[in-house]
Amino acid sequence: MIEKRVRVSSHLGLHARAAAKLVRVANQFQSEVTLHRLDADVEADAKSILSILMLAASRGTELRLLANGSDEVQALETVAELFARGFDETEKVETMARAPATTELYFKGLGVSEGVVIGRVVRLQDGTCDVYQAQIKEADVVRERLRFRAAVAMARRQLQAIKSRAEKELGEGHAYIFDAHLLFLEDAKLTRDVENYIVQEHANADWATKVVGDRLLSIYTQINDEYLRERGSDIEDVIQRLLANLTGEHRTYPKLSEDAVIVAQDLLPSTIAELDLNHVKAVATDLGGWTSHMSIIARGLGLTAVVGLRDFYHRTRTGDEIIVDAQRGEVILHPTADTSSRYGLAEQRVLKSRAVPTGETGPVITRSGVKVNLRANVELPAEFEAVRRFGASGVGLFRSEFLLSRPGLILPEDEQYVVYRELIAAAGEQGAIVRLFDIGGEGDRDFSDRPERNPALGLRAIRFDLRHKEIMRAQVRAILRAAATGPLSLVVPMVADVSDIRMAKQVVMEEQEQLTADRVEFSPVRVGAMIEVPSAVLTSDKIAAEVDFFELGTNDLVQYTLAVDRGNYAVSDWFRTLHPAVLFGIQRTLAAAANARIPVIVCGEMASTPAYAVLLVGLGAVDLSMTPALIPRIRNTLSSIDTTEARSIVEKCLTCATADEVEEIVRVEFNSRWPELFPPNALPAKTTD
Ligand code: PEP
Ligand code: MG
Repeated sequence: MIEKRVRVSSHLGLHARAAAKLVRVANQFQSEVTLHRLDADVEADAKSILSILMLAASRGTELRLLANGSDEVQALETVAELFARGFDETEKVETMARAPATTELYFKGLGVSEGVVIGRVVRLQDGTCDVYQAQIKEADVVRERLRFRAAVAMARRQLQAIKSRAEKELGEGHAYIFDAHLLFLEDAKLTRDVENYIVQEHANADWATKVVGDRLLSIYTQINDEYLRERGSDIEDVIQRLLANLTGEHRTYPKLSEDAVIVAQDLLPSTIAELDLNHVKAVATDLGGWTSHMSIIARGLGLTAVVGLRDFYHRTRTGDEIIVDAQRGEVILHPTADTSSRYGLAEQRVLKSRAVPTGETGPVITRSGVKVNLRANVELPAEFEAVRRFGASGVGLFRSEFLLSRPGLILPEDEQYVVYRELIAAAGEQGAIVRLFDIGGEGDRDFSDRPERNPALGLRAIRFDLRHKEIMRAQVRAILRAAATGPLSLVVPMVADVSDIRMAKQVVMEEQEQLTADRVEFSPVRVGAMIEVPSAVLTSDKIAAEVDFFELGTNDLVQYTLAVDRGNYAVSDWFRTLHPAVLFGIQRTLAAAANARIPVIVCGEMASTPAYAVLLVGLGAVDLSMTPALIPRIRNTLSSIDTTEARSIVEKCLTCATADEVEEIVRVEFNSRWPELFPPNALPAKTTD
């Protein structure tokens, strides 16, 4: 056995990231490596992240390193070197994170809705769980241990998927925390202790996890160093994840107070759907972009939201005071009294200016007499009442996948049927269009599936549906049955070409036959195709011959045409809606539909942005679908423009080579023709280098 003295030189002490590095390094050797505090009788196993964290070694702590085994010399040298290098941390991250908890901190992200809100942080990982205690029989001990191991394996898959997404979007430096979480799952201090508890106490796996987790956390709360103590939230996250996996559906979210601001790394839209929306004031997330589904829903619900905040989640604790400013895309943590009172005024002003229904309904008529339908995009039943309130001509797109209360949990057919009936009632005589489940694009598939390297290019949308036929069949049946009660259509998401449509229609036909055989009342439905990938655009004439209508999903069309991840803030500068390639795609799709005499509903976010809506109309679109609250604004814009003028601007745009050139034309032309409608801040901003 050999030993050496080292000092913790990294600014934040032996926190989760440093500890994760230490574990990885120590694990390269066969020898045992232990750390002993010189000032206290505490020791830690260098191969156990939890054990290292319990040392609570802040900056300056002196430690004795001991190595024992066949490669002890090399092990000791390598570990000591890691200490000497200060765990390779960059000064920048350390000084920012070191700021005391009460210092006012600014974070810059992307505002994706309206509003300024002052509230209190509610950190959301995967929800907290109601855990019950049960005494199990000896014969069930093995089963409970296996159940625990399955929950750990599932947590590992989930964390690997989140880690690779965070790496992609935020860079490796920011994804480190998931390394620590993954190491917690491998740590015997957690896994062995839980299994021992199951065996010795004859406890159910959920209870054993909770007891062991609480013990670990209570040790943490006694740590003197504030920064290290805060890292208890990482352990809590992992325990909550395990409990959520163990308890499955029995997940509940924290009780929300009046002023809750949900803070999360990434928020699945299905999670928003589960929250008590009456008490959620705002949302702030590390990941996400303008067209992420979370952002779309936030706009739909009128929730103030800032996304793309990068490393924000880990700086927060539940209960912290926070200001979310979606106008500026900023979040302020621990605001001073001064800042709060300044924002208090802003908060009231914004509330007053929120969208109000105008009482107008039906299509809008442009100045040159062209009729344009304005329909509603709807994600959640909570938005149904807004369809009529904002004068929408029915529902152009119901994103049905948000009926999933969590990834992998599909609403049974009968419950879907009830929702579709309510949708029909909300839509009125213009009817509604249900999209078949568009699952998978944001890594939101059932976690028992293998995580994908590239979810947006993976088993998404109709591909997922065709692979999980039972899920698809149940949805199709619910749609067909509900259609007997009012006008309802079905649209197939992300078709690559007409073969996807043929396969989908085959399922629809088979289910019609089955319902007929079972003597269940139903009505045939019109079937449409979402055109949102380049292959569908290029073969749109073939697809048009076999469907009743098109829906143009411009969010995905931009993403796939330009190969830019729509939810990735890091590449948001490349997400250019007005790229000529996108305009050509739209033009070609509209032409194919016109030739086949089928309608096209444009339902991406483009349709709800006034300047873009004018260009769409210039391209020949006469059916737009958007978040209901945005309808009055688009109505006002389109009623004031002349379609022939829009067309002549579009013609110029179609001669351009880049998005910059198109945007310049839009700025100049809009400003000279409609200065009152389009002040500079309503037009695309000039890009700066
Ligand atoms: C789109 O892609 O534009 C669209 C309407 O669908 P989603 O945003 O749900 O992918
Ligand atoms: Mg889409």
